[in-house]
Amino acid sequence: MQYPEPVAKLIDGFMHLPGIGEKTATRLAFYTIDMPKDEVQQFAQALNDTKEKLTFCSVCGNITETDPCEICSDPMRDQSQVLVVEQPKDIATMEKMKDYHGLYHVLHGVLSPMEGKGPDDINISSLIKRLQKNETIKEVIIATNATPEGDATAMYLARLLKPAGLKVTRLARGLAVGSDIEYADEMTLFRAVEGRTEM
Ligand SMILES: [Zn+2]
Repeated sequence: MQYPEPVAKLIDGFMHLPGIGEKTATRLAFYTIDMPKDEVQQFAQALNDTKEKLTFCSVCGNITETDPCEICSDPMRDQSQVLVVEQPKDIATMEKMKDYHGLYHVLHGVLSPMEGKGPDDINISSLIKRLQKNETIKEVIIATNATPEGDATAMYLARLLKPAGLKVTRLARGLAVGSDIEYADEMTLFRAVEGRTEM
């Protein structure tokens, strides 16, 4: 059977999200139809705002409403440490832990020869420029995920940054191999930061 056009469009919209097939998309679409009007409007507004109000911080690459972001413009943060993550959501995870007070840098990906992703395809050149400009930064903590790509990216960065006299460390392997920072609990993350090792 054919659905009315708004329903078909909604199903199509949900199907663009990762991990959602036609069955789930259809279920979500019909769930949305049953939702109160104001809830649906709030949801639609939130979707719109992600494109209208958010931008990437020109310093660290975090998602933000103001540029530079809140973390980059906070003088109380420890200006001697930069923690390098793959995605903006990793910053949120680290911040929940509340024990890291330094700065961040978001790569927006990892090196992946399989997907044709080289150093120019992720946010590395801005990190280099940032480190060259800013002599207060003494340590770069690499917190890419414990995957082959995450490890290769960490190695690449260490080789690039160590000759410049920077201390380069990697989060301890409290994190299970292949796991994302996203899924680590706060205690595990805390131990991973505390037990970080020099590369
Ligand atoms: Zn920032």
